[in-house]
Amino acid sequence: MYHQQPLYLFLSLTRGSWRNAFYIDCPTCPYGSGNCNGYLLTTDTEGAPVIMSVMYFEKATGDKVDKTECAGIITKTAFENLFNRWLVWNVSNPKSCCILQLIPKMDERKS
Ligand SMILES: [Zn+2]
Repeated sequence: MYHQQPLYLFLSLTRGSWRNAFYIDCPTCPYGSGNCNGYLLTTDTEGAPVIMSVMYFEKATGDKVDKTECAGIITKTAFENLFNRWLVWNVSNPKSCCILQLIPKMDERKS
């Protein structure tokens, strides 16, 4: 459902501010994707992860995200450990980066 309005959903879940989201750092992607650092993480009302790239978020809102002002900074590995059981069911290709598979389609097109 959030594929249609990812930004609206994200802002509603973070109560209007990226500062309430976690920052996911993936500076050296183990899957070789150079396009995989700087993602904002929150969860939906069920506790499932909702991710948005910082690049897309900044473009869409005109805001500048400072990761040190986010609710927390976690690595991609920490993210994968935290949501391990959920990822097993929701990521189709285990050989490519889970974050890139999770970002909404709209985000992918525009970044
Ligand atoms: Zn990655």
